[in-house]
Amino acid sequence: MTLSTLRVAIVGAGPAGIYAGNLLAQAVAALNGAVPEPVEGQGPSAPDAVEIDLFESLPAPYGLIRYGVAPDHPRIKGIVTSLHEMLDAFPEPGAARRTIRFIGNVEVGRDIALDELRERYHAVILATGALRDAALDLPGVDLPGSYGAADFVAWYDGHPDVPRSWPLDASSVAVIGNGNVALDVARVLAKHAVDLRTTDVPDNVLAGLEASAVTDVHVFGRRGPADIKFTPIELRELGELRDVDIVLYDEDFEGVDPTTAPNNQLKVMLRTLNSWRGRASTGASRRLHLHFWHAPVEITGDGRVDGIRFARTAPDAAGAPVPTGEVREYDVQSVYRAIGYYGTRVEGADFDERRGVVPNVEGRVLGQPGLYATGWIKRGPVGLIGHTKSDALETVGHLIADAQAGLLTAPSAPGAPSLPTPGSLSLPKGDVLDLLDERETAYTTWDGWLALDAHERALGKNHEHVRERVKVVGRDEQVEISRPGVLTR
Ligand code: NAP
Repeated sequence: MTLSTLRVAIVGAGPAGIYAGNLLAQAVAALNGAVPEPVEGQGPSAPDAVEIDLFESLPAPYGLIRYGVAPDHPRIKGIVTSLHEMLDAFPEPGAARRTIRFIGNVEVGRDIALDELRERYHAVILATGALRDAALDLPGVDLPGSYGAADFVAWYDGHPDVPRSWPLDASSVAVIGNGNVALDVARVLAKHAVDLRTTDVPDNVLAGLEASAVTDVHVFGRRGPADIKFTPIELRELGELRDVDIVLYDEDFEGVDPTTAPNNQLKVMLRTLNSWRGRASTGASRRLHLHFWHAPVEITGDGRVDGIRFARTAPDAAGAPVPTGEVREYDVQSVYRAIGYYGTRVEGADFDERRGVVPNVEGRVLGQPGLYATGWIKRGPVGLIGHTKSDALETVGHLIADAQAGLLTAPSAPGAPSLPTPGSLSLPKGDVLDLLDERETAYTTWDGWLALDAHERALGKNHEHVRERVKVVGRDEQVEISRPGVLTR
C-alpha cells in the first residue's frame, strides 16, 4: 500500500491533541525529506503528506489551558501562544484547507460517531483528557455545599457548560487533597477578588468572588508534609497572598526532616513549609490552613454541609497512612474535593472504568487498530502540560510506524475525503464538513477562533481594568462570534 496522504482525526483540541497534531505534521514532513521514494512492489511506504482534522466539543480550542488553568497563572496560560503557532504554522496545502484544521463545537460520539470518523480517516487519535472529578466514596458527599474541584475550576474559568453563579456563602471551607488543583482552589477561594481584577476571569465570577463570605480555607492532606503532590512555585505562591495568613500545625511536622527528602523539589517545598511554621499572625482578614495526616471519613450536615470529620492518620512501617483511632471534626459550610480528575470517555472506544483511561499500550488502543490515545485519556490525569508532549511523541511515533508497515486501513466511507484541488477555493468533495452541514451541526473553524480571539482581546483592551482578554462565556455567543449566522440558518 502506498499512503500518499495520511488522513488523521484527533479528538480533543487541548494541549494533548494539539501537540499530537503538530508532532504528526512535523514527522511526516521530516519523513518526506528523509525517506527514499518507495519502489514498486516493495510493500508499504511512508506517507508523503498529512491532513489532520482536530475535533473539539467546545467552540474554542486549548482545552484545560482555557478552562482548567487558574486565571492568576498567566505564565501557564502563555503556553497558548505556542499552541496557537502550532495550529497556525502549517499553511494550506491547497487553497482549500490547512494541514491541521480545527473543527470546534462538535462532540464525537454525539454529533458524529467515532465509527464515522474511523471510516473517513486512516487513523483517529483520542485526546479527550480528563474533565470530571474522580469519585470520592464518602458519607455526605452529595450534600449541598459539597463540590467537585473540577466544577469549581470550570466555573471560575468561564466554561460554557457550568452554571453562571456559584454559592460562596461559606465562611469556613475545607479543601480535600494535596495536589496542585487543591492549591488552585484554595488560592482562588482565599484570594481577595480585587487581586484577580486584571486577569481573564469572567465578570460574573469576579462579582461572585467579591461577595464571598470566606474567612478560613482549610486544606487537608491524608498523608504528611513529605507526601505532598504540589510543585514548589505553586506552593510558594500561597505565602505571597495579600491579607491572607498561612497557618500550619506543629504536630503535623513531627519526624519530618527536609534534608532526607528523596528529591530536591520536595526538599525545597519542605523548607518553604518550615519557614511558614514560625510566622506570626499578621491579623489578616483571611487565613489559609494547611493540615496533614487527615483522611476524610464523613461530610456532615442536615440538608446541607455543616462540618467534616477526619481520621487522624500516622505512617505505618512502610510509610502508608493508617488511622490512629483519633477523630477530628471541623465546622465548615462547604467542602471542595480536589482528589484528582477522571478521564472523558468517547462513545465507541473501550474504556477502563477503574482507571478512567482508554486501554492502550504506549498509545495504541488495545483491540482497535487505527485508534490511538494521547494525554490524560492515555495515561491518567497526572503530570504537567509539558509531559503531554513526550506522550504525544510516543503515540505519533507508533502511528507513523503503523502507517509505514501498512497496518492502517484506507478510508472506506462513500464520501471519504479526496485531496483538494490545488488552487481551488471550495472544500474537497465528501469532506467531513459536508456531513456536519447536512446534520446542521454548528461547527466552528480556525478562522472563527481567530475572530473570537480578536473579539475577546478587544473586550479586554476596553475593559475598565485593562486585561489581556475578557472571555466570552456562553456557548451560543461564542459560536455566533465565530461563525455569524450559523445558529439561525
Ligand atoms: P494529584 O496531583 O494527583 O493530587 C491528588 C491529591 O488528592 C493527592 O494529594 C492525593 O493524595 C489526594 N487524594 C486522592 N484520593 C484521595 C482520597 N480518597 N482522600 C483524600 N485525599 C485523596 O491531582 P490534581 O491536584 O488533580 O492534579 C492533576 C495534575 O495536574 C497534577 O499533575 C498537577 O500537578 C497538575 N496541575 C498543575 C497545576 C499547576 O499550576 N502547575 C495546576 C493544576 C494541576 P495521595 O497522594 O495520598 O494519593
